[in-house]
Amino acid sequence: MFAHILGQTKAVTFFQRAISSDRLSHSYLLHGPDGVGKRLLAEQIAAVLLCQREQGEKPCGNCPGCQKYLSGNHPDLLRITPDGPTIKIAQIRGLKQAVTYAPFEKGYRIILIEDVHTMRREAGNSLLKILEEPPAQNIFLLLSASLEVVLATIRSRCQLIPLYSLPFDLAARIIQQKDPELPPDEAFMLAQLADGSPGKALSLNSSSLYPLYTESLEALLAQRRSEAEKVEAGLALAAKWTTLKDDLPYLFHLFRIFFKDAMVPLVFDQPGTSRMLWLDKARERWNFRQLSAKIDNIDYAEQALQRNCNKGLACEVLALQLLT
Ligand SMILES: [Zn+2]
Repeated sequence: MFAHILGQTKAVTFFQRAISSDRLSHSYLLHGPDGVGKRLLAEQIAAVLLCQREQGEKPCGNCPGCQKYLSGNHPDLLRITPDGPTIKIAQIRGLKQAVTYAPFEKGYRIILIEDVHTMRREAGNSLLKILEEPPAQNIFLLLSASLEVVLATIRSRCQLIPLYSLPFDLAARIIQQKDPELPPDEAFMLAQLADGSPGKALSLNSSSLYPLYTESLEALLAQRRSEAEKVEAGLALAAKWTTLKDDLPYLFHLFRIFFKDAMVPLVFDQPGTSRMLWLDKARERWNFRQLSAKIDNIDYAEQALQRNCNKGLACEVLALQLLT
């Protein structure tokens, strides 16, 4: 039923059982880090429930229900995503209106609400009223990456389904399925950098941040003889970092992971990868205390950014410290 969803065994098994024994609740809240498969799982649940085949594998892909689903406009699948930064009250009012009618087809209507934590109180209260007296044959699938921020009243109306970060090797496999040209060690490194979230790893890979990250590590670890060379390299790096806007704290975060990993050799590191070569170089170059000082330098630069200190200056200071 959910054969092509890799990982998330607990959540998948839960829904397989609930669907095959026909014991579904009205509302579920799927929560877990970004990019680990919440939307994919919710869409699969919708596909299974909207399939009209009586017996055998679902979704069948052929029945009228599946065809409408695959065409992207099944009338019994309602999707709500944030309109700008938040889900607006008008969207929930529209939903309220829609669910007063029975589903178009004879089965279920699925209401998929993404980033439910972006709802302000007014919209949240309006949704709560629907969840408190859910109309028959409607199944609500709410998704959120930050469970704590979802209104407590909404949380309490839903069955909570946690999804987790994936083991790095599994995440790397998924990344490679999506991007077959990516060498295995790059996929593994991206999985590590994205904390086991294939979605995050793929967006990191397609952003300009990842090349800058690898370029920066190469530059930091290159052999330089004179102080003047170091200063020149540091200023050149800082100039590139300074061009980043919202991604700069994330770049710093990636550096922190690298220096932490250099301090503590990890069991799952694969020998022979470019990441291992960098880590080995870092361990040769700096001792434990120096690596730890670099992490402090990164923390300090992050705090400087948060205090709105001069970004260029913060980057220059950090680049020179990391090169030393
Ligand atoms: Zn079907």
